[in-house]
Amino acid sequence: MVDGWWIAALLLIILVGYTFPYRRLNKRLQQSLAEAARLKSKLSSTRRELVEVNARRKKMLAASTEALVIVERDYKISSANKVARRLFGKPGSEATLMAWTRQHLLQELVEHTFQGEKAPPLYFTWGDRNLEAHTRFIKEHKEVVAVALAIHDVTEVQRLSRARRDFVTNISHELRSPLASLQLLTETLLNGALDNKKMALKLVNKIATQTDTLNQLAQEVVDLSMLESGKAPLRMASFSLQAIVRKQIEALLPQADRKNLTLNTDVGDDITVLVDETMLGRVLTNLIHNAIKFTETGGVTVSAKRVDGQDLSPQSAPSSLPTGKEIAISKEIEGDWVMVSVADTGKGIAADELGRIFERFYKVDPARSRRDAGTGLGLAIARHIVEAHGGHIWVESNYGDGATFYFTLPTDY
Ligand code: ADP
Repeated sequence: MVDGWWIAALLLIILVGYTFPYRRLNKRLQQSLAEAARLKSKLSSTRRELVEVNARRKKMLAASTEALVIVERDYKISSANKVARRLFGKPGSEATLMAWTRQHLLQELVEHTFQGEKAPPLYFTWGDRNLEAHTRFIKEHKEVVAVALAIHDVTEVQRLSRARRDFVTNISHELRSPLASLQLLTETLLNGALDNKKMALKLVNKIATQTDTLNQLAQEVVDLSMLESGKAPLRMASFSLQAIVRKQIEALLPQADRKNLTLNTDVGDDITVLVDETMLGRVLTNLIHNAIKFTETGGVTVSAKRVDGQDLSPQSAPSSLPTGKEIAISKEIEGDWVMVSVADTGKGIAADELGRIFERFYKVDPARSRRDAGTGLGLAIARHIVEAHGGHIWVESNYGDGATFYFTLPTDY
């Protein structure tokens, strides 16, 4: 019996001795399995994050207004966003930068960047666009493995900065001649002309004209910059077009009389326009004033007729605008509009000048405009005002045969 107990105790010891390491092993196994499960879930969440990051990266590349390209060490293109593909076409899977863009300068820029050089931006032209390219190298384990290339379209920025420079140059030019005249006139007066009353009166009158020119220039520059920056809000209301035209004509009649020109109107009393009265007055004054200025015999007629989209077909649309815009006009103008015209019997405008006269400071004959105290801003201002009303302005003319300016305005029921 005692032996039996011993044997049982012995067996128990052996059993415990055997199973103990298995239990430890099992526990470790359990832990490893738990760790593996944790790693697996971390892996799948990292994978999910990676997919998300990749999707965001793709969206970012697609949303960029710059062309973004990754050039690998062998100059093959591994990534090119939509803008880049629009610029140079879709790169083939084996395409190199040079084969894809055919731009030696870009190739050189990327080569320099691969050599670890901080290359300055590159400016180059592509078709009618001016582009600016920047590069950054991409390093992995301290080695340059690829180059990121960003290309930006700077055509518009360059155009604006050129326009700003031209504007300043033009203004200084416009200021210089009346200022020089004023200086000369005052010097002549001070050097003795004051004693001759007739001569003094003549010179003082000239001083008044030059001062008017400077005033007009200052006013027009302010107006134009307000209109261009949108800081001149339109105060729209219903007005009788006939009343507005009459008011402007009355103000300009003395000017027409001085040149023996007739000044007629053909505007019905049934047209009500939805406009800013002061602004429309400026447009009419500028056009009628020019018509009188550039006409020596005959006269000026202001007319108006109701039109709608169909009436303004491309055939009757502005000859001074490019084709694309002519078609746009017939599509844009819908419903009731009025087309106002200011026609003169003057010298007219040559065909190659028609497209330019609405530009700021543009004068067909600068010497003549100076005599007539023109600033070259009147038509640019008129165009801004008409377009701010949603209308269009254009001119038709045969050189030597007068000019007719047209503009459209929204009518009010
Ligand atoms: P300006 O102050 O010189 O009149 P505008 O902008 O009003 O400036 O006009 C620009 C140019 O367009 C003028 O210098 C002139 O050469 C030309 N022009 C404008 N209106 C007429 C017209 N009715 N007949 C002939 N040429 C005109």
